[in-house]
Amino acid sequence: MHCIFCKIVSGEVPGHVLLRNEHVCAFRDVNPVAPSHVLIVPNKHLASIEAISAAEADIAGALLLAVKDIAHLEGISESGYRVIVNTGEDGHQEVQHLHIHVLGGAPMQHQLG
Ligand code: AMP
Repeated sequence: MHCIFCKIVSGEVPGHVLLRNEHVCAFRDVNPVAPSHVLIVPNKHLASIEAISAAEADIAGALLLAVKDIAHLEGISESGYRVIVNTGEDGHQEVQHLHIHVLGGAPMQHQLG
């Protein structure tokens, strides 16, 4: 198992973990680009959104619900935040384990891209 996010999920590699449950784990991005920058990953190794099957709708739902939980924990629910899921080569996905970026704590650039 060479996946860095699998290792953070299992505890083999330390991460600043904020939330864990049956389906997902959330930890701080090691290279934050916003005052609050958290990654939410499925505990199960899924390479990207493309790897989610209909049978894993519970995981997909847990990922989205964790976004809301993280926003509350980070105190950015009211001020707002941006959610990004880079996917594949054109999406500049660097880590091949599905992850949701939650970015907040300051106004984001108005435009995407
Ligand atoms: P991307 O695959 O481009 O959506 O982004 C991968 C993100 O993972 C980057 O923002 C990295 O800073 C972050 N990252 C890579 N390794 C670690 C790690 N060991 N702990 C926390 N974040 C990481």
